[in-house]
Amino acid sequence: MTFQATILTLFPEAFPGLLGHSVVGRALQNGLWALKVVNIRDYAPDKHRTVDDTPYGGGAGMVLKPEVVAAALRGTRNQELETKPYVVYLGPAGKRFTQADARRLAALQCPLVLLCGHYEGIDERVLETDVDEVLSIGDYVLSGGEVAAQVVLDATVRLLPGVLGAESSLHEESFDLIDPETKKTLVEYPHYTRPAVWEGQAVPAVLQGGNHAEIAKWRLEQARLRTAKLK
Ligand code: SAM
Repeated sequence: MTFQATILTLFPEAFPGLLGHSVVGRALQNGLWALKVVNIRDYAPDKHRTVDDTPYGGGAGMVLKPEVVAAALRGTRNQELETKPYVVYLGPAGKRFTQADARRLAALQCPLVLLCGHYEGIDERVLETDVDEVLSIGDYVLSGGEVAAQVVLDATVRLLPGVLGAESSLHEESFDLIDPETKKTLVEYPHYTRPAVWEGQAVPAVLQGGNHAEIAKWRLEQARLRTAKLK
């Protein structure tokens, strides 16, 4: 089954954005995944195409109306998707998105729908009824969910079979690299390329020596050191 992603947004022109470039963009062109973009505003029932209203209880900003968001989600689900999708809302109050979540989403056996909020956010009731999970890309507030949706999709799509040339390289990457002793995830070791000396800085001798066991040992040590520094 081709991985199918549908974005619900008020800013459809933001897509594919970076998802149309590089590894993920090539995979899109080659049909390894499919992207559909839905304009939430197309589901506004009135002639002014109103999507938001003032918040109950007062305060600044506007809130996306539940009936508009629900119509967009349910319309997409009924008309265009054969299987019930997994619906994720991108929001700062969600679970922090990690590499493990990217792996989980890449393994989905159904379409993925990513719902992007804007303004103050989305009426909570539609999140309760129509959304399976809320994901945040970090502890800061973005203007809209579009950048977050691109982050989540980029991290997810590159894990799909065939997207990266050498799939074995995935196991060496940050957060997929496992410490053989502690079984904990590590961030990756540093990389170097030619020239062997640049601005007086030499590439570590062990990497130039060609002893694969020594190189693997050095890389594991470096990954452990870098991971420890992050904590
Ligand atoms: N009033 C909300 C709050 O304080 O939590 C912030 C709303 S924000 C200005 C507008 C939209 O950006 C949200 O509805 C959400 O879709 C998206 N967004 C903002 N920060 C995000 C984050 N860290 N991760 C994922 N989405 C985010």
